[in-house]
Amino acid sequence: MSIHHLIFNAGFSYLLWILPGIIAAFVAHSKHRSALGWSFLCVIFPFALIILLLMGDKCCDRPEESIYAPCPYCKEPIRKDAVLCRFCRMTIQRP
Ligand SMILES: [Zn+2]
Repeated sequence: MSIHHLIFNAGFSYLLWILPGIIAAFVAHSKHRSALGWSFLCVIFPFALIILLLMGDKCCDRPEESIYAPCPYCKEPIRKDAVLCRFCRMTIQRP
């Protein structure tokens, strides 16, 4: 076996090893998730790529998160467009 063959094999296996990480980075980015975190996870644990593919977009996971904001007085989650807190009954000033 020549040295070139060894280098080629090493390079190819290295590519196969990091490939799930590269795919994970792209998939995670498109789903608004941590590209770096997921690529690391998939390099160590390639099965995580399947989990990532099955996961939905992060901004669609909990849609109530975007319409709810903490009350400035009692910090309970209330609708962003609310003018009266349903928890502490305080009037919320809207710009
Ligand atoms: Zn409140």
